[in-house]
Amino acid sequence: MRVSNSTTTVTLLAGDGVGPEVTEAARRIVDAAGVKITWEEHEAGAEVFKKGLATGVPDDTIDSIERTRVVLKGPLETPVGFGEKSANVTLRKLFETYANVRPVREMPGVPTPYSGRGIDLVVVRENVEDLYAGIEHMETPDVAQTLKLISRKGCEKIVRLAYALAEAEGRTNVACATKANIMKMSEGLMKRTFEEIAPEHPEIDSWHVIVDNCAHQLVKRPEQFEMIITTNMNGDILSDLTSALVGGLGFAPSANLGTEVAIFEAVHGSAPKYAGKDSINPTAMILSAVLMLRHIGELEAASQIENAVMATLADGVRTRDVLGDEGSVGTRAYTEAIIGNLGRSAEAWEARPVQKIKMPVPNPAASLVHPDVVELIGLDVFFQTEETPAAVGAAAAALAEGSAFAVKMVECRGTQVWPATHAQLDPTDVMRARFITRSSVVTDEDILELLRRFNERFSWVHLEKLRTFDGEPSFSRAQGES
Ligand code: NAP
Repeated sequence: MRVSNSTTTVTLLAGDGVGPEVTEAARRIVDAAGVKITWEEHEAGAEVFKKGLATGVPDDTIDSIERTRVVLKGPLETPVGFGEKSANVTLRKLFETYANVRPVREMPGVPTPYSGRGIDLVVVRENVEDLYAGIEHMETPDVAQTLKLISRKGCEKIVRLAYALAEAEGRTNVACATKANIMKMSEGLMKRTFEEIAPEHPEIDSWHVIVDNCAHQLVKRPEQFEMIITTNMNGDILSDLTSALVGGLGFAPSANLGTEVAIFEAVHGSAPKYAGKDSINPTAMILSAVLMLRHIGELEAASQIENAVMATLADGVRTRDVLGDEGSVGTRAYTEAIIGNLGRSAEAWEARPVQKIKMPVPNPAASLVHPDVVELIGLDVFFQTEETPAAVGAAAAALAEGSAFAVKMVECRGTQVWPATHAQLDPTDVMRARFITRSSVVTDEDILELLRRFNERFSWVHLEKLRTFDGEPSFSRAQGES
């Protein structure tokens, strides 16, 4: 086997629970394969939170990652009562690792209900936007709101990266899974961006699938997929589903890729009940190290380790999660068996001819959209009330009289309640009044005047400008709104 002569420095975060056992297994196998890596061990997670650092990620860990740009990471916990944000999310956001890549493939010796069907697919999940931006508000003690933020730029980055990965791995079928039929603006942005970029790859069969049907199809006929590109929340759920198709979390590796930094980790968490018991399956972490080796250009060593894992499984050497207690081996014995099998491969496993991925270089200027004409045509005011829709509608119409705006409708939870429709609604205490401008010239002072009037009658909680971009409305209509 040929390994490169150069030494790569990698930040190693052992993590919590079973983390130290699975990262140790991965590190020993990488070292045994002869790859020259200097491991810089650093802390993050539970112990750091307990020392009082609210992010769970100390500065020396951040400094190390800024230098090495490559991380092999065990699972991290946020202990109850310490820190508000997860250290995992902190790392993803600090280093803008915008893509979460989760490959799954049927493995020899790992029986599942799908064995023999040749599952071999990768979920490419947007990793920093969507509901995971973590922007939440209690509008009132009764109504919670989480912002689903999706940017054109974020979509373009993940779609371009997915195609680069498809090319590196020789995949010719790429599906984009969204809920664009319901969330036409946010999920729709991912669908539209995908449909704009897909024609640049005529050699690849690109198609869109609604995410709920994607889940259904994955259970029914998973072999039809080679790659699924999707938004953050969809990808979180779909990729756990796909892990289960090939044997469970013990076999699911992942890469968090950014333009500067890449973090490789198992999909699973710290599995605390197995910590220190020498029984956890380290395959997911070992295969994450394989993804890391490909990322740093150690393609042959990566394939050698992958082949050794498959040969070991095919020999029937497996951990408790596959076999139960009867006949299984512990984490350390399994690791030794893989090291002993370096240089072997499994008959039932044909290695994919994978190239090093050419990470796309995002051009921030090019991916921002600048419309020629932006027009303010109204205002949505969200407010707290326990009054009836009829009383609210009449009051909103009265207070807008003589202002730059006229009230168009009032809605609750997305359904118009004034003027009355046939909707049978169980109202909450947050409603929205939609105001439309009376003329094309409306100033900020007009908006503030409307809010002043509104506030005399109702407590407003937030507002959104209604605008058109080159004539296209930038907002959705309420259910029942004309
Ligand atoms: P988890 O640690 O992934 O464990 C859930 C279950 O999955 C385990 O009880 C076990 O199932 C199975 N499992 C997990 N890893 C396995 C492996 N290597 N081999 C075989 N089976 C495995 O999920 P959790 O219990 O929800 O989370 C525990 C902690 O981890 C939480 O603090 C969570 O926040 C954190 N977490 C961290 C990350 C990360 O760092 N990326 C990801 C997820 C969760 P059985 O019980 O059926 O044996």
